[in-house]
Amino acid sequence: MWIVTLYLILSAVSARPSFRLNSCSECRAAFFTLKTLADQSPGNELGFEVANKLCKMSHLEKDEVCLGLSAELGPVFLASLSDHYFDPDFACFKLGYCESPIFVKENLTDWMSQVLSDKPNGLEPVAKSKATVRFAHLTDLHFDMEYLAGSDEDCGLPLCCRSGSGKAGRWGSFKCDLPVETLDIAIKSLANQTVDFIVWTGDSPPHNVWNQSQAYQLSYITKATQLLRQHFPDTPIYPVLGNHGCYPFNIYGFGEEAWLTDTLSDLWGPFLPEGAAESLKTIGSYSVLHPGSKLRVISLNTQACYNYNFRLLKDATDPGKLIEWLRAELDTAERNGELVYIAGHLPPGYGDCLDAWSWHYNTLIERYVHIVKGQFFGHTHWDHFYINRGVFSGLPVAVEWVAPSLTSYTYLNPSYRIFEADAASFDIANIYQYRMNLAKAAVDPYSVPVWDLAYDFLSEYGVVDLKPETIAALYEQFNHDETLMVRYLNNKFTGGLLGPKECGPNCRQKEACEVNFGVNQLVRECQKSVDNISNEMLNFLFGPWVYKL
Ligand SMILES: [Zn+2]
Ligand SMILES: [Zn+2]
Repeated sequence: MWIVTLYLILSAVSARPSFRLNSCSECRAAFFTLKTLADQSPGNELGFEVANKLCKMSHLEKDEVCLGLSAELGPVFLASLSDHYFDPDFACFKLGYCESPIFVKENLTDWMSQVLSDKPNGLEPVAKSKATVRFAHLTDLHFDMEYLAGSDEDCGLPLCCRSGSGKAGRWGSFKCDLPVETLDIAIKSLANQTVDFIVWTGDSPPHNVWNQSQAYQLSYITKATQLLRQHFPDTPIYPVLGNHGCYPFNIYGFGEEAWLTDTLSDLWGPFLPEGAAESLKTIGSYSVLHPGSKLRVISLNTQACYNYNFRLLKDATDPGKLIEWLRAELDTAERNGELVYIAGHLPPGYGDCLDAWSWHYNTLIERYVHIVKGQFFGHTHWDHFYINRGVFSGLPVAVEWVAPSLTSYTYLNPSYRIFEADAASFDIANIYQYRMNLAKAAVDPYSVPVWDLAYDFLSEYGVVDLKPETIAALYEQFNHDETLMVRYLNNKFTGGLLGPKECGPNCRQKEACEVNFGVNQLVRECQKSVDNISNEMLNFLFGPWVYKL
C-alpha cells in the first residue's frame, strides 16, 4: 500500500483543498509516520510484495511477468522513494509547507534567462560546401537470440515468438522482436550504403523485460557492437545507451552502475576518440570530435530524464549533472568554433522525459542553436520529430529527429535511415528512410528480404529544406490537409499495421500538438489531455528541481 498511500498523501496535500494539511508541523508528522513505517519494514520484500500485488490486481500481465517485474522494479522504487520522499525535511519543503535551511528550489525562469543572456545575435551562417556527408542512424535493434521461426506469436506474454507453434515468420513478426538473421541482413544492407559514420542510439536487448539480468543485457550490447564493428571496421560509430541496456530495464543510478559503464567503456572506448572511454565510465555519455573535422558528437545518456527510471526518485535534480556537463561541452564547442550533433536515446520532447529536465535541455538548445546542427533520438520506435521552441518566444528553434526502430516491435516494418548533410556547415540537407517490408518477406520466406528506400523527406513532403521554420510550417499544413497528415502518420508507423486511413480534425489536432513542442508539458497543455495521468503523476513526484545546500 506504500505507493497508494504516498500518492494519496501527495495528491491530497497538493491538489485538494479539503485534504490540505494545516501546517508545517502537521506535514512533518505525516511524513515522519510514513518514514518510521518504511524504516521498520524489510525494504526489498515489501517493495516486491506491493509491486506484485498491484501488478496482479491490474490483470494486465501473467503471473510470471508480474513476479519478474516486481522483483526487479519493486525494491528500487520503494527504496528510492523512502530515501528522499519519506524524509519530512525534504517532502514538506517540496510541498511548500515548511521553510528549509537545507533545500532550495531552483527558479527555472531565472536559470533560463541567465543561460540565454549571452546568446549571440546576428551570427553569420556557417559557409556551405559543395560536398555532402552521409551518415546512418540506427536505433532500437531489440533483436532476440531466442526467436524461433514457426513459434507462437500470441503467447500472452509481453514478448513471444520463442516457443509453441504458430505464425512467427522466418524474417520476423509484427508482434515480436527481431530474429538475429534479420538483424544480420539489416547490417549487411547498411554496409552496402556509403556512409561516413553511424549514429546508433541504443536499446539492443529484447522485450522479455521480466526475466533479464546484468549479464543478459551485456550479452546483447556486446553482440550488437561486434556485429556492427565486423561490417564497419573503419567507419566511426557513435553509440548511445538506451533504457533497455540497463538492469533492471529503465533503472540507472548515476555513479552506481559500474557493471554497465565499465563494460561500455571497454567495449566502445577502443573505437571512439580519446576521452570517450573515461567519460562513459563516469556518466555513460561522451563528447568527441569526429576525426578530421570540426564536428563534435555528443552522446547523451538520457536515463537522466527518463520518468520510468525510478532510481531518479532519490534525486531528480540534474542527475549525473548532465545538464551542467552538456552546457560546458556546448560552451567549449562554441569557443573552439566547432559544430555539434547530439545523439541520445529518449527524445526530450517525448512524454517519457521529465518536464524539468526537458525545459533545461530546450533552453540549452536555444542558447547554442547556431552550433547544434542536429539532434538524433530513438526509443519511441516511430518515425517522427519534435520542434524545439524558444522557451520564452515560442518560435521554432530546432528539430529533434526521431528515427524508427530496427525491431518490428510492435506492428512496424524494420527501419534504418540515412542523413545527408552539408560537409562544412553540417546542416541536414535530406533524410532517406529505408524499410524492410515484413508482410512481403513473410510471403516468400526463402528469399532474402531487401531494404527499400521508403521515401526521402524533401520529396515526400514537398519542402525545400529541413529548417525548423519549414518543419513548423509543414505541420501547420498537416493540420489542414488530411491527405498529407495521413501520409505522415503512415510514415510515422513505418508503413506497418498502425497507419490510419483517415485523420479527422481531432486526430490532426492531437498529432499536431504532439510534435509542435520540445517539452511534453506543452504537448499535454495543447492536447488538454487527461489520458496521460501517469506522466502527470511522475512529473509531480520528480520535479521541479531542488538543490541541497
Ligand atoms: Zn527505449
Ligand atoms: Zn526501444
